[in-house]
Amino acid sequence: MEANKSPGPAPRRRITRRRLILIAFAILAAPLFLLGRAWKQGSDDGGQKYARPFRIAGNFYYVGANDIAAFLITGPQGHVVIDGGYPGTPPLIIASIAELGFDIRDVRVLLNSEPHGDHAGGLAALKEASGAEIWASHASADVIEAGGDDPDIHWALRPLVRVGILGYPAARVDHRFDDGDTIRVGPVALTAHVTAGHTRGCTSWSFPVQDGDRELQAVSACSLVVLGVSRYSGQAPDFERTFQVLRSLQADIWVTSHARLWGRYRKFVARDTAANPVDPFIDPEGYRAYIDGGESELRRGVAH
Ligand SMILES: [Zn+2]
Repeated sequence: MEANKSPGPAPRRRITRRRLILIAFAILAAPLFLLGRAWKQGSDDGGQKYARPFRIAGNFYYVGANDIAAFLITGPQGHVVIDGGYPGTPPLIIASIAELGFDIRDVRVLLNSEPHGDHAGGLAALKEASGAEIWASHASADVIEAGGDDPDIHWALRPLVRVGILGYPAARVDHRFDDGDTIRVGPVALTAHVTAGHTRGCTSWSFPVQDGDRELQAVSACSLVVLGVSRYSGQAPDFERTFQVLRSLQADIWVTSHARLWGRYRKFVARDTAANPVDPFIDPEGYRAYIDGGESELRRGVAH
């Protein structure tokens, strides 16, 4: 008994070594874990606070968060929503739609600007709540159906996608469209422009908006940011074509998926003093400056 109680030197060394390995692992893993959690918290909070929904013009409304955008285009035979935000954003989008007097269950079509988790993360939940069909470009559809697991994302980040930090609930895509296709719900018609670069299937949308007796042309433009962690061969020529396509579109009103970039708040506030509350959103100069900015960043080799 006595002999069994006193451990020999060899097992003690083994235990000590194992403990050391565990301690070393904990020391290394703890900051990584905390960093991951802080990043997730930051991205959950960042741009995800409530923003009052409002009419931009005619049947075109803002229903997104303070920065992560979502848009509602209403029609007599059903509505269209562009973008679902992060996985946690849909309750806010649904509440904003209700606040404007519309019903999520009348949304027939869900569209997406790009399949990163901050814009496509909530599509599955919005589809569930509305019963709407998701339409996406071929390249975006693959990523949306894989829960954000985009083959173009840097290999070192893909494990974070798979464990759900950068990934999101996968959504079934009902229809895949080609560049130039028009998606219709009754009289509401949006034309898809596959303006690749930020992602392969990044989609800009152009659509007319009736404001009283004038018809305004609206453009929801893709992100023009080059992401250092999302590169693919052929990306530069894709961007060149994208700049050309965006320049060819008439944009009386323009928006993009991060609201700060098109001045959501500034324009929203300016409505109070404008003769017509739509006027602050008529901003073709801002649209051209947005494209110029993206182009000059690409020329200077800026990657985010
Ligand atoms: Zn993105």
